Amino acid sequence: MEHLRAEIAARRTDLIGLAQDLIRIPTLNPPGRKYLEICDYLSARLIRSGFHVQVLRAHGAPGDSDAHPRWNMVARIESDAPGPCVHFNSHHDVVEVGHGWTRDPFGGELDGDRIYGRGACDMKGGLAASVVAVEAFLEAMPGWRGAIEISATADEESGGYGGVAWLAERGYFDPGRVDHVIIPEPLNKDRICLGHRGVWWAEIETKGRIAHGSMPFLGDSAITHMGAVLAEIEARLMPALAGRRTAMPVVPDGARHATLNINSIHGGEREPGHGDTSLPAPCVADRCRIVIDRRWLIEENPAAVKSEVVALLDGLKATRPGFDWTMRDLFEVAPVMTDREAPVARSTAAAVERVLGRVAEFVASPGTYDQKHIDRIGRMKNCIAYGPGLLHLAHQPDEWVGVQDMADSALVMALVLEDLQG
Ligand SMILES: [Zn+2]
Repeated sequence: MEHLRAEIAARRTDLIGLAQDLIRIPTLNPPGRKYLEICDYLSARLIRSGFHVQVLRAHGAPGDSDAHPRWNMVARIESDAPGPCVHFNSHHDVVEVGHGWTRDPFGGELDGDRIYGRGACDMKGGLAASVVAVEAFLEAMPGWRGAIEISATADEESGGYGGVAWLAERGYFDPGRVDHVIIPEPLNKDRICLGHRGVWWAEIETKGRIAHGSMPFLGDSAITHMGAVLAEIEARLMPALAGRRTAMPVVPDGARHATLNINSIHGGEREPGHGDTSLPAPCVADRCRIVIDRRWLIEENPAAVKSEVVALLDGLKATRPGFDWTMRDLFEVAPVMTDREAPVARSTAAAVERVLGRVAEFVASPGTYDQKHIDRIGRMKNCIAYGPGLLHLAHQPDEWVGVQDMADSALVMALVLEDLQG
């Protein structure tokens, strides 16, 4: 371990500089800015390190356009000796800046042990750590076996369809090509993430009858009907969901249950646009819509998850005069769970223990990430998320990543390579 530790330590300034450079490329999603710039930047570096690099546009993927093309980078290096392929996958996109920052979101400012910026934690710090880990390993272990891949992919923050899903559909995550996958998402340097809960988004619409707002008794309000839906969800569905607990080690603990969020609600006439000073017109709402975000457990059945909501709506229809509804599926992802005995999980756990002197914690994520595509499309089950950064800082103002955390997790990743390919 000491030779790898020395190689990583010697690269500390480089690690900081790499993370800063990546943060300074504002790869905002939406709409998907600077994707080619960040791919070209990484490509130039990895070519210098001996990799063969492809920069690929996800033509035709959701979100891809000439104005905002979805660029991805895949770098591969092969040794002369046969052996497994270890793949590090990071998304290069970041979410919007939002309000409340006291630092320059794209300055990559170093203050003490922290580097600040949008994407510092989620997940340019992890991307930088994996690049430095691989370069240190290649320097320290000239007799290594197999192949190493590093990818930087688009659009994870908006579903990954122009990134990992597109690559997986083209065989980049097939078991014949890749044997182990590590996604350096910010799960903390002592935790190994095995997967995530399932997702179901649906739009529910209630119907009404339009009338003049001064005579609401002549119409039938879709908003009032939706109020009944919300009351039923809160009174009956929420407690039922809270009572279901998964055996998956989901963190934080509140997410170890089935959950439901109302992502949006809209009823009645369209809200006035920004700067529009006209008054709204008085009408009884004839349409009201909500979007529900149901996170389901690996122990649940997706058909039952949906029929439970249908039963709730049918129950209202049977008892509430004038009530009618429609529902439209928007998005669905099945839960994913890698076995904690999978080779990449075991190897990473052993490396965490060696570097940090404590037992690694196995966790699962409350939300989904690109592992879903690697699992379902790539059929690659030997995949985990492991990387530096504190999960709760992701998407927050003044997001930061710790330099020591990056260095420690880089050493863990290099030790995993030594274990699997040394
Ligand atoms: Zn992320």
